Amino acid sequence: MHEHFFQCPYCWQSISMLFDPSVTSSYIEDCEVCCNPIRVEAQFEDGEIVMFNAVDIAQ
Ligand SMILES: [Zn+2]
Repeated sequence: MHEHFFQCPYCWQSISMLFDPSVTSSYIEDCEVCCNPIRVEAQFEDGEIVMFNAVDIAQ
């Protein structure tokens, strides 16, 4: 699993999530700090992250 750190689009705290590098992930996770739902997308190539988005889905 690949751990990726990013900023929550709601509270701007640095949080981390674990991703499976063998698949392109797109799912909804709650921020571990403020508990708001974040839509995260992650794409990997050769085990390295090449695209990452964390979107505020309350907008
Ligand atoms: Zn947050």
